[in-house]
Amino acid sequence: MAEQHYDLIAIGGGSGGLSVAERAARYGARCALIESGRLGGTCVNVGCVPKKVMWYAAHLAHALDDAPGYGFRLDYFGFDWKKLKNARDSFIQGLNEWYLGYLQKAGVELIHGLARFIDAHTLEVDGIQYSADHIVIATGGRPQVPFLPGAEFGMTSDGFFTLQNCPPRTALVGSGYIAVELAGMLNALGSEVTLLVRKDHVLRSFDAMLREQLIERLREDGITVLTETQVRAVARLANGALSLHCQGQASVLHVDTLIWAIGREPNTDALSLAAAGVAVQPNGVIPVDPFQSTNIPGIYAIGDVTERFHLTPVAIAAGRRLADRLFGGQPDRCLPYENIPTVVFSHPPIGTVGLTEEEARSQYGDVVKIYQTRFRPMYHAFTTRQPPMVMKLVCVGPEEKIVGGHLIGEGADEMLQGFAVAIRMGATKRDFDDTVAIHPTSAEEMVTMR
Ligand SMILES: Cc1cc2nc3c(=O)[nH]c(=O)nc-3n(C[C@H](O)[C@H](O)[C@H](O)COP(=O)(O)OP(=O)(O)OC[C@H]3O[C@@H](n4cnc5c(N)ncnc54)[C@H](O)[C@@H]3O)c2cc1C
Repeated sequence: MAEQHYDLIAIGGGSGGLSVAERAARYGARCALIESGRLGGTCVNVGCVPKKVMWYAAHLAHALDDAPGYGFRLDYFGFDWKKLKNARDSFIQGLNEWYLGYLQKAGVELIHGLARFIDAHTLEVDGIQYSADHIVIATGGRPQVPFLPGAEFGMTSDGFFTLQNCPPRTALVGSGYIAVELAGMLNALGSEVTLLVRKDHVLRSFDAMLREQLIERLREDGITVLTETQVRAVARLANGALSLHCQGQASVLHVDTLIWAIGREPNTDALSLAAAGVAVQPNGVIPVDPFQSTNIPGIYAIGDVTERFHLTPVAIAAGRRLADRLFGGQPDRCLPYENIPTVVFSHPPIGTVGLTEEEARSQYGDVVKIYQTRFRPMYHAFTTRQPPMVMKLVCVGPEEKIVGGHLIGEGADEMLQGFAVAIRMGATKRDFDDTVAIHPTSAEEMVTMR
């Protein structure tokens, strides 16, 4: 028998769970949130936030390299990783506390512990049962580790955030955005980085221009990128180093730190989903309809535990819209999963929204027109490093509706958001051309492409 009954219970105190519970409570629903770890979930504790702190540090390292070109004479005494880690940890602890206040202010009850289903409306946490009319699964995901001898000698992105020092030599295995981001940061902060990629490119689902440009930039920055290379076994040597036995462009590699960044898997195994009858794919992903509903009425799933776009703002938007629909009198409210902009915090950063050229051609055929430009940003007129900015617009039809925008270069991360609004609203190339440029910026090239 359940001790407490709620209108809504969210399982998981990450981006999705926090958002759905807070928004539902604001509509007057009686809500609880169950979290087994730290509030804020992946994004706050081992994802976007600590990652961006490290990206800023790496960005500063590049700026220090660039400064002499602008006339600065610098005495540089190196980088104190521990100092930054301590500051970063305190910053995150502040966010954990902030989220506690966020829930309290909204009137959401926080239950600590690991939730599992007893039936379609009942959950159990530490022997106590809680029931709800609506249950939202927002349990996120965790990094994968491959099954191969010695895999346990490696760490994942979670481990990266516990590192006390910058490893002298790092091997990163993977080709997704987390792999290329960590590779860029470690390289800028002083590690000798090797990136091992299974196929011949990084960022599989991205526009080919971005993939090709990024590999060039990684190599120019001094990262060794080994494509079509797989790790077969790992061993710890007597001197503490790791020996990676590989197949492909290298056979043996010696490093101090190995980071697996080969993908993430959903946190669904501890939920006893079968007790509620919730369907789950063999890979643990929970299938949902466009309204985030699972196959069981009253049970929903949002965020990384579902199939598409594993991004914080996506989990937040899906959660808030679900609450709008359930308690806010907006029965059609849902998140359309098109034109979702995203940034890769590589060096230089990438911004991308909409269809890749390849996707547009397979969807629209010959009516696709591409505009592309490549130039040296003025900032790099005086620097030794000269990474170009490359921009691409994917347009379709006689009206040249813009269906995709892809940028790589200094500032692309901050540039994309506004263009994403325009593209979502259905902007055409003519709309971009008719927009007065802001000079002198790199962004002005987005509205002056020929
Ligand atoms: C290294 C890294 C960098 C990233 N960078 C970015 C970025 O720059 N931009 C971006 O948009 N996204 C980024 N992401 C992705 C982003 O963090 C996720 O998409 C987002 O956190 C997903 O939110 P969520 O609510 O689905 O899950 P999570 O945030 O993972 O939250 C799930 C929560 O559920 C809890 N939980 C799990 N099982 C149970 C259970 N049975 N009972 C109770 N609690 C449970 C977990 O402890 C966790 O706190 C990054 C991810 C990583 C790993």
